Amino acid sequence: MAVSHWLHPGIQAVFFDAVGTLLFPNPPASQVYAAIAREEGLSDTATEIEQRFRVAFRAEEEADRAGGWVTCESREETRWRRIVQATLPGLSDPDAGFHRLFAHFSHPTAWRVHPDAATVLPALRDCGLKLGIASNFDRRLDPVVGGLDALAPARELIVISSSVGFRKPAAEFFAAVVDVAGCRADAILFVGDHIENDHDGAAAAGLAPVLLDPEGRHPHVQRRVNSLSDLLA
Ligand SMILES: [Mg+2]
Repeated sequence: MAVSHWLHPGIQAVFFDAVGTLLFPNPPASQVYAAIAREEGLSDTATEIEQRFRVAFRAEEEADRAGGWVTCESREETRWRRIVQATLPGLSDPDAGFHRLFAHFSHPTAWRVHPDAATVLPALRDCGLKLGIASNFDRRLDPVVGGLDALAPARELIVISSSVGFRKPAAEFFAAVVDVAGCRADAILFVGDHIENDHDGAAAAGLAPVLLDPEGRHPHVQRRVNSLSDLLA
């Protein structure tokens, strides 16, 4: 197979971000939250829920930044507990609501895989490249990836921030990716949808970044693709 300029002979491994790159909540997270709100008899609108979710999510990002991007399983649970509470403040039993939502997203059935993955991952593997997933998700990523057949070619090398102890964009996280890949940093193509966490973090650590930018939000970024299939010829 002809390969693209992304896969020059120096590239030995391709690592992918998970959520927003290979995996997408299906239905979207805001709809899952809205369904629980309806069951609870809350009158929150979908717009309110989505806005609160975004604000709460961003606040947790800033908390992580202030903490030097350190993380662990309990930090991840705390993140989601706070996001659920801030997004659905009217829940009669916030703890139960948190557990329901946390469990929901641990199931493969809560996710869809990027439509290109089923062709792109086997093609990359057949080029002799090592494939992996490097994610800021938590231990729930293992059962999710394990249950989605389209991700099988990338399943063997999984790097999860809560296990590493640092999350993207920390240098320590990308050092763990390099360790797992077993090759030089600049021999790893790192594909992700987040400019700071994926593209900039990987670049700062010496990996070869590619921003997945399907909506063309970052025209100033040179190393970007519209779709995963653009990684091939
Ligand atoms: Mg992402």
